[in-house]
Amino acid sequence: MKNPGHERGPEVDLGAVVKAIAAFSGGLDSILAAVLVSRLGVDVTLLHVQHLFSANEEGRARIRAAAERVGLSLRIVDASAEHLEVIRNPKHGYGRGMNPCVDCRIFMLKIAKRVMEEEGAQFVVSGEVLGQRPKSQHHRALLQAADESGLGARLLRPLSANLLPDTLPVTEGWLRREDLLAIQGRSRERQMALASELGVVDYPQPAGGCVLIEKAYAARVRDAFAHVGRENVDVEAFRLLKVGRHFRLSERAKAIIGRNEGENGILEGFAAGRTRIEPVDVMGPMTLVEGEPSEEDLLLAATLAARYADHGDGDKIRMTIAHEGEERSIDAEPIARDDPRIAEWRIGN
Ligand code: SF4
Repeated sequence: MKNPGHERGPEVDLGAVVKAIAAFSGGLDSILAAVLVSRLGVDVTLLHVQHLFSANEEGRARIRAAAERVGLSLRIVDASAEHLEVIRNPKHGYGRGMNPCVDCRIFMLKIAKRVMEEEGAQFVVSGEVLGQRPKSQHHRALLQAADESGLGARLLRPLSANLLPDTLPVTEGWLRREDLLAIQGRSRERQMALASELGVVDYPQPAGGCVLIEKAYAARVRDAFAHVGRENVDVEAFRLLKVGRHFRLSERAKAIIGRNEGENGILEGFAAGRTRIEPVDVMGPMTLVEGEPSEEDLLLAATLAARYADHGDGDKIRMTIAHEGEERSIDAEPIARDDPRIAEWRIGN
């Protein structure tokens, strides 16, 4: 049986439906790769791998809409827990932040391989472009990812296929080499032209890079690994690292102070198991202290929290300190705004 609804060159006889799983980040290149292969007669299913640093719910809604627009079915697989292991112990190390991009890409391909096998598909499509990211998408890195993911020749990068060794879809005659492309480098011109040739419009804009690359977030991850142990930094801990100002008060205690009402609300959700400090009579931030804080740590956290409350400079502020059902009040003198210890304690900025 031939793939229905697709025009193919006369030399290639599919004989049976050929199926592929296309890794779909939501960015233009991944849509183009998937649509191109689909137009060549392959039954393509898009796969979006969700993890802690991928698109949020709003981003996933855009990804669903994009899949609908190009008429391809979409599977979203939540791999958050498995992905943590990649961040904790990357074989190939980190980039300029705490971003294990090489391992992360290999991980995505491994998930795609698993889905390929579940769906009875023959190969995986990826929108990677040779040389687009000089550090992780050079020739050797692409071949290494194919190899280490276990996909080998079952991994097709149609946008750069003619610059790379032949893959199974070509050697098996499911696709013709001349229908595939030889795009390389960082310029987006060829992709923009291809988008208009394929009628791919209104695609989601690429996300601004994951927080693991950001200096401040990377500093918080390093601090957490050093003080809590990398195996103990779980999904919740990684989420909390995104919220508020973080201060390392001592080897055993860290304070997290909300920067606005929205963050105070989010911190509420993380209060269980942590000490909670709040001003009583004035508006001010929610503060959480985690670890095993000493009395000195708690008083320091209260003076620091008082510095961010609405008050006259230097006025003492009544604060509650609550932990596991026990609550007490203290009068905290806000730490001076220009106290150099604030910058020393601050993790990231
Ligand atoms: S930027 Fe983040 S999500 Fe993207 S490959 Fe690197 S670590 Fe993974």
